[in-house]
Amino acid sequence: SLEHISLLPADPLFGLNARYNADKRSPKVSLGIGAYRDSNGKPWILPSVKKAEELLVKDPSYNHEYLPISGLAEFTQAAAKVILGNDSIAIKEKRVLSIQSLSGTGALHFAGIFLKKFYKNTKETDGIPTVYVSSPTWGNHFQIFQSAGLKTATYPYWNNDTKKIDLKGFINTINDAPKGSIFLLHACAHNPTGLDPTHEQWLQILEAIKVNGHFSLFDSAYQGFTSGSLEEDAWAVRKAVELKLPLLICQSFAKNCGMYGERVGCVHIVLTEISEDLNAAILSQLNRIIRSEISNPPAYGAKVVSKILNNPELRSQWEQDLKTMSTRIIKMRYALRDELVALKTPGNWDHIVNQQGMFSFTALSAEEVKRLEEKHAVYLVGTGRASIAGLNEHNVKFVAEAIHEVVCH
Ligand code: PMP
Repeated sequence: SLEHISLLPADPLFGLNARYNADKRSPKVSLGIGAYRDSNGKPWILPSVKKAEELLVKDPSYNHEYLPISGLAEFTQAAAKVILGNDSIAIKEKRVLSIQSLSGTGALHFAGIFLKKFYKNTKETDGIPTVYVSSPTWGNHFQIFQSAGLKTATYPYWNNDTKKIDLKGFINTINDAPKGSIFLLHACAHNPTGLDPTHEQWLQILEAIKVNGHFSLFDSAYQGFTSGSLEEDAWAVRKAVELKLPLLICQSFAKNCGMYGERVGCVHIVLTEISEDLNAAILSQLNRIIRSEISNPPAYGAKVVSKILNNPELRSQWEQDLKTMSTRIIKMRYALRDELVALKTPGNWDHIVNQQGMFSFTALSAEEVKRLEEKHAVYLVGTGRASIAGLNEHNVKFVAEAIHEVVCH
């Protein structure tokens, strides 16, 4: 029988979006869901994507046939180079296995299923590895890994007093975790805090992971979003590969190509040893997982992104598009901070400009966030995370005044 099924609360982000859409007030501002908006608050189709789509449908070979189980090879191989670099030794040595996934979420899901089934190095007494995620992290991480049958735990990350990374707490957890645990690392533009480790801090983190024999699971959902530089945003991943850490990368093109709903992503497994037999074995197992779950991945978005990555002109347009998005977001960080300073809003707001990527962890309380929504029609998630991409020249003053009112209330 199914009568016992109980109602779950709405997903925090998509629930917020529904409330925003139903809100009849004007003006209203959504700083909830992490999707880029242009300077008029509208969704933005990247010029590189637009051109790639035009080329794609004009191509006489364009059709809607199935892709192979592991996806469009010209896409997954080019995607591996985006994250690992054109000159990656690991790629040259054929130590990288790539499959297509349903965006970043699907990549994390495949990674979870794969690691639950095959990852054997854990020193946990029940044999089930724990995935350590940052506190706080993207909320979906917990349910993705738990539904794959893995255990989850957290490592300290955000220090609310200093508004900085709690590096000591992070490293202590790496040292105290059972050897062979799995550490989920945000490759860049940490969600929700907007705080990334410095290169020096990354070296300490990666060294501790290596010494303790842990496995690194990189979540790369925002490459190109912090500064517009794909290279800088892949620094930690490439350093981990250079240090010969066993690792897996979950890569999303949702944000950096603005292809949110098309579900374009990859899993890349980087092996530490060269072995054709092992490559073939892992790929065969991944293919079985994919075949049983989605049969084969969606083609359209992968074809579009593949065009961009494999065509030098479109590729350079894309890098320009990344600059357009990241520059506008940075400008809005300063605009919001400056408005709050001008209003003499109590507190220090410099963290808004020191954080990177799509989000700012504002340090507003759950109560203040609630009042922002109810009294001012400004929507943020309860943790105080604001999607800076939702700000523009037309609404930033309004948002600052609303924050000022709730802080002074
Ligand atoms: N990881 C992180 C940290 C994210 O913020 C997101 C998107 N919010 C994702 C993964 C996955 O996004 P998608 O499935 O849309 O690629």
